[in-house]
Amino acid sequence: MSSGKTHLLSLLISTLLFSVSAVAAPDAPAQPADVIITNARVYTVNPQQKWAEATAIRGDRIAAVGTRKEVELLRGPATKVIDAGGRLLLPGFADCHIHFMQGSLGLTRVDLNGVVTVAEIQKRVKAYADTHPKEPWILGMGWTYPIFAPSGLPNKKILDDVVPDRPVYLEAFDGHSAWANSKALAIAGIDRNTPDPANGEIVRDANGEPTGALKEAAGELVASRAPKPTRSERLEALRKAMREANRVGLVRVHSAGGDFEYLDLYNDLRTRGQLSLRFYIAYFLDPPGLNADIIAKIEDARREYRDDWIEGGAVKTMLDGVIEAHTAAMFAPYSDDPSQVGKLFWDADKYRATIADLDARGLQVFTHAIGDKAVRLALDAYQSAAETNHTHDARHRVEHIETIAADDIGRFGKLGVIASMQPLHAYPDDDTLHVWARNVGPDRASRAWVWHSIEQQNGAIAFGSDWPVVTLNPWPGVETALTRQTDAGDPPGGFVPRERLSLEDTIRAYTLGAAFAGHREQSEGSLEVGKLADLILIDRDLFKIEPTEIGETQVLFTMVGGKIVYELPKWKRAVP
Ligand SMILES: [Zn+2]
Repeated sequence: MSSGKTHLLSLLISTLLFSVSAVAAPDAPAQPADVIITNARVYTVNPQQKWAEATAIRGDRIAAVGTRKEVELLRGPATKVIDAGGRLLLPGFADCHIHFMQGSLGLTRVDLNGVVTVAEIQKRVKAYADTHPKEPWILGMGWTYPIFAPSGLPNKKILDDVVPDRPVYLEAFDGHSAWANSKALAIAGIDRNTPDPANGEIVRDANGEPTGALKEAAGELVASRAPKPTRSERLEALRKAMREANRVGLVRVHSAGGDFEYLDLYNDLRTRGQLSLRFYIAYFLDPPGLNADIIAKIEDARREYRDDWIEGGAVKTMLDGVIEAHTAAMFAPYSDDPSQVGKLFWDADKYRATIADLDARGLQVFTHAIGDKAVRLALDAYQSAAETNHTHDARHRVEHIETIAADDIGRFGKLGVIASMQPLHAYPDDDTLHVWARNVGPDRASRAWVWHSIEQQNGAIAFGSDWPVVTLNPWPGVETALTRQTDAGDPPGGFVPRERLSLEDTIRAYTLGAAFAGHREQSEGSLEVGKLADLILIDRDLFKIEPTEIGETQVLFTMVGGKIVYELPKWKRAVP
């Protein structure tokens, strides 16, 4: 049989199967479900049927969504029934911007996320060193600048006090700075005579002695001396990270860099049946852009990885840096330092030509653009690529969009470009309200993270975290999207309050919007018959509580492809 006929036949069969399960009429006994989840408050994210009471799962798909009575019809002798105790059931969440391998490795190292004192850093570094006596290097990440006020930069002595005999190397939360102890500096051969590398700075004290703080490329001088993680360490880290992702309710992630070169590891996990999270993985493209080798790599990945678990064939690139370091590309000079205006990482013509090439190949592009000038160029390039190639519905994406010119807000909707944003980046802490807002000035700060305005003008929003820059837990992100306030309730009314998003729209950005951003809305993102059974039951009804309680949400169980991949111990006992 020719492959064309095979396709036609399987299409016919799947269409038939699909319609049988979709109807589930009382007089035509359908094949029983494997699992029924009943007595739930099901928020489906399907606009045609927003709410339901129960759902049935057969294999890895949803077989029914409806009232308890309707779904009960699919109950057979072997059907497992889960009583949800009236809790809220949602589609599983996707994280549309993540650096999964990097975050995974961080989980096996010293984790300084959320630490606010020097004493706590010392405690964690020492505890890690004590519990890992054979580890030759103590590695970690997640420290933030305000801990070291007023200079904002750490000193090697803090680490020498707790670990004098082994090298310690800790990256800042944003990856732009690093911190080494004396032992690590010595191993890297860094002393008062070492010149600064290009694009980096060895920070020195008044006597010219290195302090242990290393900016940008200077960190690499030390990092390159640390042992590289082995394949089995990486696999173990990925397993740990998948468990963590499932624990907080994630069922899919979109990798924005650092994972493409490890596709074979993800594939290894799939072959062993150990994947519990779905992956969409972009190739990270630097200027000057494409060549035959790179194109071959991307095309190979697209061919090889194209199922529900692992998908390759997207391309990520960066147009600029970040506001805090004045490296985001702006139309007008920075307000706190008019000598700086940021700089595009790409030559604009070269970028446009590269986007047109990728678009012609049908590859989806994720462009990091934070400054208003970078956002404009990304939109221009996507628009001209679509016009030149006569392509439709490519759904190219702009990542971050921290500032934007007022005229560009409506272009997301008009051009069908996805706004891929990370709510926790707008968390209005000291860094956002003082450093970030001071750097851009009040006019541009009035258009900070404009997710609501983009959506109001028909733009599609997809939410994510940028883990490990911030936690991969989506619930604090949901809360921030709604409130744009800190946990302490600051600023009153929220940071640029008109950009607060509704709960429904926020959930959509993490579910159906995320699926749309990955061209997967036909099979993911909402609880509908025929879609993948990726869902979560949570401990609180988001629709009935104060937004300030959302960040603490606990997931009771996470199901991916019909299998429960995470379950909070004893949650059923807590059911009222
Ligand atoms: Zn990122």
